Amino acid sequence: MKYEQLIDLCKRRGFFYPTAELYGGLAGFYDYGPIGVEILNNIKKEWWKSLVHDNTNIEGINGSIITNSKVWDASGHVSEFSDYLVKCCKGHEFKADQVIEEIAKKKTEGLGVKELQKIVDKIMCPKCKSKFGKISKFNLMFSTGLGPENKETVYLRPETAQLIYINFKNVLNTTRQRVPFGIAQIGKAFRNEISPRNALFRMREFLQMEMQYFVDPKEASKTLDRWKKERLNWYINLGINKAHLRLREHKNKELAHYAKKAIDVEYKFEFGWKEIEGIHNRGTYDLSQHEKLSKKDLKYFDEEKNKKYIPAIIETSAGLDRAFLVFLADAYAEEKVKGEKRVVLRIHPKLAAYKVAVFPLVRKDGLDKKAKKIFDTLNNNFNTLYDERGSIGRRYRRQDEIGTPYCITIDYDTKKDNTVTVRDRDSMKQKRVKIDEILDYISKNL
Ligand SMILES: [Zn+2]
Repeated sequence: MKYEQLIDLCKRRGFFYPTAELYGGLAGFYDYGPIGVEILNNIKKEWWKSLVHDNTNIEGINGSIITNSKVWDASGHVSEFSDYLVKCCKGHEFKADQVIEEIAKKKTEGLGVKELQKIVDKIMCPKCKSKFGKISKFNLMFSTGLGPENKETVYLRPETAQLIYINFKNVLNTTRQRVPFGIAQIGKAFRNEISPRNALFRMREFLQMEMQYFVDPKEASKTLDRWKKERLNWYINLGINKAHLRLREHKNKELAHYAKKAIDVEYKFEFGWKEIEGIHNRGTYDLSQHEKLSKKDLKYFDEEKNKKYIPAIIETSAGLDRAFLVFLADAYAEEKVKGEKRVVLRIHPKLAAYKVAVFPLVRKDGLDKKAKKIFDTLNNNFNTLYDERGSIGRRYRRQDEIGTPYCITIDYDTKKDNTVTVRDRDSMKQKRVKIDEILDYISKNL
């Protein structure tokens, strides 16, 4: 299976590792390695540029991970953010809806606890074939104690969105923005998932890229249409095959309590179409809730329209780890070259960890010195890798696997005519280019 081979490549080449492998790991937590963190940072950069830098009316923030617990009271997370857990006689734990969908092959959308229990009573544990007990509800937020003796319960944020809502007035009052405007944020969120799965797909600690756009409620629907198009195009412009993406609107019974309308951006993984981003019309729910609990006025006075109102919120909420997986899954290819398997990651050059790799043919006769000089020039301009060990063929393959768009080889001809070989990742075509022209050549092609 291609997906398994991709995950294998990721581990082999240092894209990410299960956390604390030394001690047996910890389910649902991963560490990004040297190549992974570069790609991750490039995705963040592209997202930030496309929203915060390319739109004069979107500002960025970086909120704290732990905040006043009243925020989570107002948002409904303390009372509502929970999953149904079910245990068999031998203690195997499952998410009730997941085990029902997998074993009983029934849809669980919109079902209450009583209806779920009825189905669970009729199925057996897939691990040991024993019966299930009563369904219980448990909150997905991680909690910890604040202060001496951990007296006060606080939570690790389960989403970044609330940090934006509570800063709505701060940003409004400290910038020149007027409604409509947006606030964007990239950061960690935490959910105590019962069954983390599919490597980076469902994690307990994960990264979100969220943008919340504040509008006159009358313009909410039009604004949602705009953002669903823009967000879909973001993935396509960064190289994702259009045919592997779709927009799916939630049915009424699927809608979360705060949502008026919800559209998922889905990607066609080998294990099915899965949500990678949500675009939601949250109406005025969030700011109204915070106004109610904080007893502070969160209305906006619109001078042009001469009216005061609570803005509606259109949210674009993407999982950064999921985006990372999607960019890799879509770029991964295996092909036969002269009877041998070639693994190549055809990732968009903007996202590639290294833009170019520099190799001296051998480590002597001054070739390495020349190569290092070229490396220094290129590395001043973009992330460049230097490798002088092993056969040139093997060195090319290593770069193909991590998606480096160009490789440059310095050989004996270089000493004669000051040209180098530039090799293209995708076509494997090679070309002689003058040393003075390399920087221009690479920059132009990225
Ligand atoms: Zn069991």
